[in-house]
Amino acid sequence: MPVLFVGHGNPMNAIEDNAWSRAFREVARTLPRPRAILAVSAHWYVEGTFATADERPRTLHDFGGFPAELSRVQYPAPGDPALARRVVELVGARRASLDGSWGLDHGTWSVLVHLRPAADVPVVQLSIDGRLEPEEHLAIGRALAPLRDEGVLVLASGNLVHNLGHAFGAWHRGETEAPEWARAFDAGVARALELHEEGPLLRALSSDAGRLAHSTPDHFLPILYAAGASGAEDAVRFPIEGFDMSSLSMRSVRFG
Ligand code: ZN
Repeated sequence: MPVLFVGHGNPMNAIEDNAWSRAFREVARTLPRPRAILAVSAHWYVEGTFATADERPRTLHDFGGFPAELSRVQYPAPGDPALARRVVELVGARRASLDGSWGLDHGTWSVLVHLRPAADVPVVQLSIDGRLEPEEHLAIGRALAPLRDEGVLVLASGNLVHNLGHAFGAWHRGETEAPEWARAFDAGVARALELHEEGPLLRALSSDAGRLAHSTPDHFLPILYAAGASGAEDAVRFPIEGFDMSSLSMRSVRFG
């Protein structure tokens, strides 16, 4: 299985027919059918590494201020408790454990409604432990790599540039051009991914550019899981590129 990182952007992409939602559907056309999906979403950013173990994961509407239509979206994919146990085994029981309190948040389903509209592939979500160092996130991704040979698609969902303060300000001012700092950070991360260079990825958030690109780390960290699950032999492609709301990077990355 390839590994996929998707820039999910605005939750409205789930229900709008726009350039991004059409691009997600294009990506779907090129993906092999996985046996199951392990989703690492920016929106499950907590203290601990947890894998959802429900037979029927709930669709979480973890946002406010959006139209009621968005809160009615359901993504009724089955869970896969055996896969959740396998994830805990791979990551190690000292670090990871099973969870029955979460479900599928919008970082996962706003993309999956386009990647797998039929919701016919089991989905497990993995949380991001906000206490860990970048190296540790990458190491968890590396531990997940064997899943690829077991027919599991590792799907990481975040945004390579995500400064909502800037994005909303630009939106109110009617600005659409991506600023230079956003383009440079996005391009720098893309280059590091293409060259399989871990150093720049691990240092990205702590640079001045990184602090501007990410006021909080949650939307960047999923790329470390995807990069960790990939290997030097994987071709790296960018099926989606560009910015929404001026500075929100919508770049998607396919490994292998
Ligand atoms: Zn988000």
